[in-house]
Amino acid sequence: MRQKLAAGNWKMNGTSAMLPELKALAEAYGTAGVEVLICPPAALLHRAAVVVSDSAVAVGGQDCHAAVSGAHTGDNSAEMLKDAGASAVILGHSERRTDHSERDAAVCAKAEAAMAVGLTAIVCLGESLQQREAGETLTVIGAQLQGSVPDGSTADNLVIAYEPIWAIGTGKVPTLEQIGEVHGFLRAQLVARFGDELGTGVRLLYGGSVKPGNAAEIFAVEDVDGALVGGASLKAADFAPIIAAL
Ligand code: PGA
Repeated sequence: MRQKLAAGNWKMNGTSAMLPELKALAEAYGTAGVEVLICPPAALLHRAAVVVSDSAVAVGGQDCHAAVSGAHTGDNSAEMLKDAGASAVILGHSERRTDHSERDAAVCAKAEAAMAVGLTAIVCLGESLQQREAGETLTVIGAQLQGSVPDGSTADNLVIAYEPIWAIGTGKVPTLEQIGEVHGFLRAQLVARFGDELGTGVRLLYGGSVKPGNAAEIFAVEDVDGALVGGASLKAADFAPIIAAL
């Protein structure tokens, strides 16, 4: 049985003024039967970890450097995230791929670095609208999966998030059939590459305009094990019903 996961990606939002919101979420869902993860900006990570420390809510990073340490001004290593209280890190988000020209090989190296210190790597994949309209979705997703996921992955240290770029922050959501098609494809690809244990054990999240109003129907799609939520994770009142829908 794969444990359901509701992951919140705060992106570049949140100062200490957001911590009461996180506290409210932790108090309400501290004993939820699902895994709840909030990924605040790195500057807030440690304080967020302290706020949720007595609850079942975990915190994670939004990116890490592939190197262990050294001359990389402005970057955070996986060990630093872990030291700040993270149990997971989002990697290869389309905003990182766009804003920082991250390619699959770089995402893969970051995932290896994360796994090496015991963090769960949440590897993001997704097609652009142009690629979807050209019928290239599964080819693009397959290549990203192949290139971004390390050989040393396990069912415990890897989570895949399918996030169509055109659905992120737009209010547009793929049809349930489209989500099911990609998640089924991802599951089959994972089984083919890694075998049954990892292939059937890894959690597959859907992300892109998940809201309280559409969460339940998305979660009912086969092979959707949870969500990676951006905008609707910023307020406990929005994120709580999404967690409850799992
Ligand atoms: P959104 O973002 O929920 O605001 O669409 C999702 C994401 O980018 O992870």
